[in-house]
Amino acid sequence: MKRDRHVKIVATLGPSSSTYEMIRALHEAGADVFRLNMSHGSHEEIEERHKIIRQVEKDLNSPIAILADLQGPKLRVGEFANGSEELEWGQEFRLDLDETPGTSKRVQLPHPEIFEALEPGSTLLVNDGKIRLKVADCSSDHANCTVEAGGTISNRKGVNVPDVVLPVAALSDKDKRDLEFVCQLGVDWLALSFVQRARDVQEARDLANGRASIIAKIEKPSAVREFDNILAVSDGIMVARGDLGVELPVHSVPPIQKRLVRKCRAAARPVIVATQMLESMIESPMPTRAEVSDVSGAIYEGTDAIMLSAESAAGQYPIEAVQTMNNVAVSVESDPTYREVIEASRHADRKTVADGIVAATREIAETTDIKAICCFTSSGNTAVLVARERPRVPILALTSQRGTARKLSLSWGVQTVMTGELERFKQAVVNAARAARAEGYAGADDQIVVTAGVPFNTTGTTNILRVAPCDERLIYSTDPE
Ligand code: PGA
Ligand code: MN
Repeated sequence: MKRDRHVKIVATLGPSSSTYEMIRALHEAGADVFRLNMSHGSHEEIEERHKIIRQVEKDLNSPIAILADLQGPKLRVGEFANGSEELEWGQEFRLDLDETPGTSKRVQLPHPEIFEALEPGSTLLVNDGKIRLKVADCSSDHANCTVEAGGTISNRKGVNVPDVVLPVAALSDKDKRDLEFVCQLGVDWLALSFVQRARDVQEARDLANGRASIIAKIEKPSAVREFDNILAVSDGIMVARGDLGVELPVHSVPPIQKRLVRKCRAAARPVIVATQMLESMIESPMPTRAEVSDVSGAIYEGTDAIMLSAESAAGQYPIEAVQTMNNVAVSVESDPTYREVIEASRHADRKTVADGIVAATREIAETTDIKAICCFTSSGNTAVLVARERPRVPILALTSQRGTARKLSLSWGVQTVMTGELERFKQAVVNAARAARAEGYAGADDQIVVTAGVPFNTTGTTNILRVAPCDERLIYSTDPE
């Protein structure tokens, strides 16, 4: 769907956003990618949402990416007899392996490997770090803790153990089942939680076996340390600020975000800035000024996408949250300072013919009055390379591959149009001109830049750049076959 902005919006689906009407309204309001969070919801619910997204995509003839987010080795407490309990400063609280529902004195932590790794003095953080427990004594089946920061603890809240290196596998048995389930449903992106090393990404890639592209979520200190190696084997990155801000001091998150976004841009890998972007909108139709500023900051950094979590999944104002992101994006991107910042932070390590051609398309588009950059792409790679240039003019990706069209919904500034298989270059130029006019980017008197590769419909062949008129008669009379 045509947008008035380059940055993309990812909206997480959940109980607040699972009907056809809501998912369609979210897409129309600006959600380009839908995230299915495998930490919540049954397979039946996930399957139902997946079906609805594909229906909306068909009804609106608008490619939509689906991102399935695997829970990863996230530690969680068990359940409470009363659903939740208040923990008070200074009190004792016990974690153990006993499945009996929890009380104000104890709860299950169903991870024997954690009890093996804990030591007296270790810190456990519950519910995004709001509750802090210090281990007083422990054994292989329990830990007696002192509450250092109290609050409400409820069923299945997450637990972080930042100062202990956990001997846990990258993908739990649940993750492997979920991965197979969503790959069979057909998803475009798979996000992996709590990646610690490049090998973790490789493991998921082997299991997905080409059925989905892989996003590594950066939310562990070790993933920050290993980032370059992780980026090299990932198709995309998520700056997962929620757990990152628990595992590391919260003030270290903004510099990490900036560094990661820059590295992803340079490497032409889509990057998502996620979590608490409009947190107050879970309960309020208006964001705080600080939230709007945070969303703007990510856009000025040049991130490919910004994400809504609970705001769209479980909040009261999912549509308003998407609209807010959209409005902020339009406002930021029309600021002359935005162009200055984006251009100053452009860094492209150019090595290939395709790299050179896409850099030239931007140069031409910015030197003369070009209305759109149209690129024929089979794998999506050329479009992603054009996006890396962060050009001023719209990027129109033309592809015969539905999976490619969907996947590109995550990439900065890329709008996709499906085309048939190509046989002749003249036909490609005509198709591009028609698409640019149909999408409202250009009129008959305008010019576009077209990139393509011969032989056609083969990945990695981009080798043609043509500045073309949008008037078909001119193309027919001037272009070689
Ligand atoms: P989550 O990941 O929402 O799956 O925890 C995002 C984050 O931690 O920021
Ligand atoms: Mn997380």
